[in-house]
Amino acid sequence: MTNQTIKQVSDQHILPTYGRYPVAFVKGQGCRLWDADGKEYIDFMSGIGVNSIGYAHPKWVQAVTNQAQNLAHVSNLYYTEPASKLAAKLCGDEFKVFFCNSGAEANEGLIKIARKYSRDKYGEGRATIVTLRDSFHGRTITTLAATGQDKFHHHFHPFTPGFRHISPENLKLIDPWDDVCAILLEPIQGEGGVIPLDPKQVQIAAEACRKNDWLLLFDEIQTGIGRTGKMFGYQHFDVQPDGISFAKGIAGGLPLGGFMVSEKLQSTLGPGDHGTTYGANPICCAAALTVLDIIEPQLSTITENGDYIREKVSSMNLSCVEEIRGRGLMIGIKMKNHPPAAINARLLEAGLAALTAGTDILRLLPPLIIERNDIDAGLKIMHNVLSTDF
Ligand SMILES: *Cc1c(COP(=O)(O)O)cnc(C)c1O
Repeated sequence: MTNQTIKQVSDQHILPTYGRYPVAFVKGQGCRLWDADGKEYIDFMSGIGVNSIGYAHPKWVQAVTNQAQNLAHVSNLYYTEPASKLAAKLCGDEFKVFFCNSGAEANEGLIKIARKYSRDKYGEGRATIVTLRDSFHGRTITTLAATGQDKFHHHFHPFTPGFRHISPENLKLIDPWDDVCAILLEPIQGEGGVIPLDPKQVQIAAEACRKNDWLLLFDEIQTGIGRTGKMFGYQHFDVQPDGISFAKGIAGGLPLGGFMVSEKLQSTLGPGDHGTTYGANPICCAAALTVLDIIEPQLSTITENGDYIREKVSSMNLSCVEEIRGRGLMIGIKMKNHPPAAINARLLEAGLAALTAGTDILRLLPPLIIERNDIDAGLKIMHNVLSTDF
């Protein structure tokens, strides 16, 4: 099938919930992609932060194939070796984990455990979870309620009650509130526009949590598993979270998410309180073990490569670029006067797959294993497109 026929058949049968580019990818290898017409692309988007070890990494393929040949699924009524190993590797002695299938589900779990912790201890009236303006926490009715962007809220009322969105500057005002059980923060807001959280605001939030026995929760679905140059984004701040959600990059392209909680939440959920049929799927967990093995020794390289990309883009002196921000391989380029979706379409035409975020951000999330030759090739395409056309 060609790009055109795949597009036609898809448009005929799949609900039009995405503004898609007219490209159908059929193969990936390392940090390169090929479409159905045979055209090659450099990948600066990792399937929205998912393909952390690129495409078809031989160790990942081996782990997934082995696991598929032995046991694809048995449900959470039984123990499996891949889930036990992955949990031990992720959590150490500090955390315990619940595995699910996606980011939104991971946040739903955090929300549930926060509410139950507070209700068990203090009774009703403390169900509110504070989140930030411009945050993104998922697409279910509850995680949309948590999401601090009105553009997602127009059509789907009524939402789950019990969320309050504030600006980071107003975190200093919430200490007297008496109906709160938790604060949920992205260390760097991803979909909202690659907006890093000010460490001072995080300290203020952490202090309010400590004083009031509120839970300090981090949504690490985009920032986690090495993306920012540390295993989790909160590790750039001097705070101890009570809970962390993760998904996207953990299994390198297979659906896996989860949330980890600190000691004080480890007996909050008991048998029957939470569950999922697919969660902790053995193939996904085997894939994730490979991802962690590859990413853990790579963290300082991720930091270096991210700094390298930001410096290179900055030294291009492009008149259309207003600001470059982010951390590690989570990069936001604020564009002046040009809708980033249009720029992205031109980049794709020129052979570079990138992302957008917020209203004016070109977002780069390259595979975490990307090497300098692919980085330079991608930057060259960016330079050509951004300097000739604008
Ligand atoms: C992508 C994302 C989600 C939602 O994850 P899904 O797997 O699409 O449900 C939630 N929070 C953040 C910060 C994200 O980047």
